[in-house]
Amino acid sequence: MTMRGEKKYIAAIDQGTTNTRCILFDRGGRPVRSAQAEHAQIFPQPGWVEHDALEIWTRTQEVIRGALGSGGIAPDEIAGIGITNQRETTVVWERATGRPIYNAIVWQCMRTQKFCSQWLRTPGWEQNEAGAGRAKEITGLLVNPYFSGTKIKWILDNVPGARERAARGELLFGNVDTWLIWNLTGGPEGGVHVTDVSNASRTMLMNIETLEWDETMTDFLDIPVAMLPEIRPSVCVYGTTTERGPFGAALPVAGDLGDQQAALFGQTCFAVGEAKNTYGTGCFLLMNIGEAPALSTNGLLTTAAYSLEQGKCMYALEGSIANTGSAVQWLRDNLRIVDESPDSEYLAGKVDDSGGVCFVPAFSGLYAPYWDMTARGAIVGITRYTRKEHIIRATLESICYQTRDVARAMEADSGVSLAELRVDGGAVKNNLLMQMQADILGGTVVRPVVNETTALGAAYAAGLATGFWRDTDELRANWAEDTRFEPAVSEAKRESGYRRWKKAIEKSKGWVD
Ligand code: ADP
Repeated sequence: MTMRGEKKYIAAIDQGTTNTRCILFDRGGRPVRSAQAEHAQIFPQPGWVEHDALEIWTRTQEVIRGALGSGGIAPDEIAGIGITNQRETTVVWERATGRPIYNAIVWQCMRTQKFCSQWLRTPGWEQNEAGAGRAKEITGLLVNPYFSGTKIKWILDNVPGARERAARGELLFGNVDTWLIWNLTGGPEGGVHVTDVSNASRTMLMNIETLEWDETMTDFLDIPVAMLPEIRPSVCVYGTTTERGPFGAALPVAGDLGDQQAALFGQTCFAVGEAKNTYGTGCFLLMNIGEAPALSTNGLLTTAAYSLEQGKCMYALEGSIANTGSAVQWLRDNLRIVDESPDSEYLAGKVDDSGGVCFVPAFSGLYAPYWDMTARGAIVGITRYTRKEHIIRATLESICYQTRDVARAMEADSGVSLAELRVDGGAVKNNLLMQMQADILGGTVVRPVVNETTALGAAYAAGLATGFWRDTDELRANWAEDTRFEPAVSEAKRESGYRRWKKAIEKSKGWVD
């Protein structure tokens, strides 16, 4: 028998690039109810990507009502709310009305590419091939349109009067976490304006050591500090929801993590050296490196992983790969040699190997660890013998080889060997892909039972802040293994395949001028 008002769930809101979900988790970390909704992708020009921030807020309210309504769940059964979000995406809105002054500029948007190139030519801001330079020393990141800083600057430069209004405190900036928390806690009537360290570390405005907004960066980009949210821990009661909001009650908003850091948290990678790789459109490999923000010399980013306490955090090294699952989508939509992405498993399994074919899916350049924006896709090693199954197999191999590149960079930077890699994301259901990953990595690949690790990480943060879960040990006990993949090829075969991959990478580099 359950008592009225007993806290049984944590609600996680996972606001992603293409859709928004609300999932209710029980004490065992199991997803119990969920609802999801898509929002529009807006492409005003080639390379530009926007979202309507008001639509995102509307979809968020719908999925919250959907998740609660579908199970007849009373708000007083919910102990707290955790937020996780697409990172770097930039919203600027009016404090008095809650109206955005421009569409949200999405992380993938390349509109500030030209500014970034000029920035890198500014004396004192040069960057070497591995991305080392002043920007990295201050923020842990590279100068790149990917991060929020130049997106905020673009809005302030292009919306008339915006910079002056921002300096007067009339405009607020936030990533999507900040935008949702502000709206959930009252919006123009008392909404709290906060973010957490994991999101702030993706703006290029936060000092990676002090975990505070950095004057050198805000001055250089001419961004008034008055518009920036307060930086708080990831596990923290930020405020309470309003009764007229989608929860219909006053509930604590108590967790906030960027999506990749949330997946690390959901995979309970709390110890130094523990790492996870998420297989979606791209891949994101993050390793917990502890309480010191060691900078990469091998093309990786240093990022705040999570914070349990104001002014302190655990850091992560991050290897971001732009195209992995998207290469499988390309086989489906452009070459039309698979009907659905999961069919890649059966078709690639019809051949023993790729028949010497290598595919580098550098559709939009190469990200970590190469950072070559001039690279383009290449399929090499084709002979008269090559069949579509070889190309499909080479596509799956490319996901594993890119992961190996990043994993090796991570081992070189951290000095920790990646003996075991925890995986999650849409593509990990592909057993052949996971076996190939173990073979190519030469290490164990472990797939957990709960694959919703991003939402789970946000739920864990909120559950710790509200006492729903006692400590991280209790969370670790929730983590359960589904399947373990062990390497099953010889060292000689692994290394000859990897040498071929490295040759293919060289073919793809520097393709466009
Ligand atoms: P995202 O969160 O980035 O939108 P998901 O985690 O939903 O992505 O994963 C979807 C991606 O994974 C797509 O790019 C799809 O092509 C790929 N994918 C999904 N299932 C499989 C599969 N069984 N085998 C290979 N790739 C897959």
